[in-house]
Amino acid sequence: MTNEEWDQLKDELLRSVGASNFKNWIEPLEYSGVSEGIAVFHVPTSFMGNYVSQNFGDRVLYQINLVDPDVRRVQFQVPANAPRKPVSAAPKPKQAAPDQPRVEDDFLIPAAPLDQRFKFDSFVVGKPNELAHAAAKRVAEGGPVTFNPLFLYGGVGLGKTHLMHAIAWELQQQQPDLNVVYLSAEQFMYRFVQALRDRRMMDFKQMFRSVDVLMVDDVQFIAGKESTQEEFFHTFNALVDQNKQIIISADRAPVDIKNLEERIKSRLQCGLVVDLHPTDYELRLGILQTKVERHREQYPELDMADGVLEFLAHRISTNVRVLEGALTRLFAFASLVKQEVTLELAQDCLADVLRASERKISIEEIQRRVAEHYNIRLSEMIGPKRLRNFARPRQVAMYLCKQMTSRSLPEIGRRFGGRDHTTVMHGVKRIEELRNQDAQIAEDLEILRRTLES
Ligand code: ADP
Ligand code: MG
Repeated sequence: MTNEEWDQLKDELLRSVGASNFKNWIEPLEYSGVSEGIAVFHVPTSFMGNYVSQNFGDRVLYQINLVDPDVRRVQFQVPANAPRKPVSAAPKPKQAAPDQPRVEDDFLIPAAPLDQRFKFDSFVVGKPNELAHAAAKRVAEGGPVTFNPLFLYGGVGLGKTHLMHAIAWELQQQQPDLNVVYLSAEQFMYRFVQALRDRRMMDFKQMFRSVDVLMVDDVQFIAGKESTQEEFFHTFNALVDQNKQIIISADRAPVDIKNLEERIKSRLQCGLVVDLHPTDYELRLGILQTKVERHREQYPELDMADGVLEFLAHRISTNVRVLEGALTRLFAFASLVKQEVTLELAQDCLADVLRASERKISIEEIQRRVAEHYNIRLSEMIGPKRLRNFARPRQVAMYLCKQMTSRSLPEIGRRFGGRDHTTVMHGVKRIEELRNQDAQIAEDLEILRRTLES
């Protein structure tokens, strides 16, 4: 298929998908050519690629086959050499005089580009992330280094990368001369391997040691990779000795990273270690409300029914990335079918996401968590002993089973060592009473509910 043929085809597609779809989804496609029976189109984002493929792929293929029957498939992809965002965190080669020819050398730019969207003003603060946010803010002020490193950890999609980029943006704005380098641990490793291969370890060392602020994302990646760890350790120490700020993220606490050398673990713990907790309902709702504003600008014609955001905040997982993706899809879909964003539409369009996030909490899980919380054995919780040390946690677990699962009282009783349903009922009642009288119990319940829900 030639470019001209594609242009003519587009007129057909305009008629078949309608003007608004055409403008949103077909027009931005950039035809790149046919190779081995696959017609390839370039798209600006992978979201768009997926969307077009799912919703218009067949129609596009059908039209193409009218002019070129040899095409078997259409593919929508983000071009490999898509223009990268400005490499804003590239270290400036300070030692090089300005009139010296710049070496066009990828090697000297270890920093990854910063995402425009990841700034402090777009970061929604709630209970689960307020400490991490406060620590990040403090580091971004760029005052004297008080804790080194700042170690941020937490599960996927909870905002670690967002906070790190935000710090880099802020520092760069306040102190443009500062040499701020952000990169993932994976990129650190590639650079290191490259330096080894090209026999440029001196350059590598010098480059990293001339950094003012070093941020390494997802450091768990270097676990088990011995020589990379070794080099990381030296870089780390050299910078700390010079009193340069280091910011590290990982998906878990330093002590919990397996196959990471002890001396590195202990070094990582020297500064401030803060975790991002799984999002709670309030934070999710807050994030959704902020993001909706942005979608509203993009789709000003769309109305949104009450309760949709609350529904999403309740039903979608703690991972903010999943939450965002769901919202984007919902709006794109609503605009496509030209309907108000309603609960039904959300359920329809997000069925797969909702299903995936549906977390059924099991009785075992509750028993295990409660036993952990009260520091007793699982067998003690289920067993026959009536000691108060065991009885109270047992009742708490029964109460949570009643609240958080759809199991009946007899069923719960059976799973607690074959107890009678009246025993369960009594336990549940007791905890209900205590909950209002005993602040400790109330707090325990809250903590347990949260960990179970996350
Ligand atoms: P992580 O690095 O912890 O896996 P990211 O920082 O990449 O997570 O965050 C995933 C997505 O969720 C990003 O688009 C980010 O902007 C968004 N996000 C996470 N937490 C927040 C928050 N508190 N406020 C706004 N957006 C958030
Ligand atoms: Mg990340």
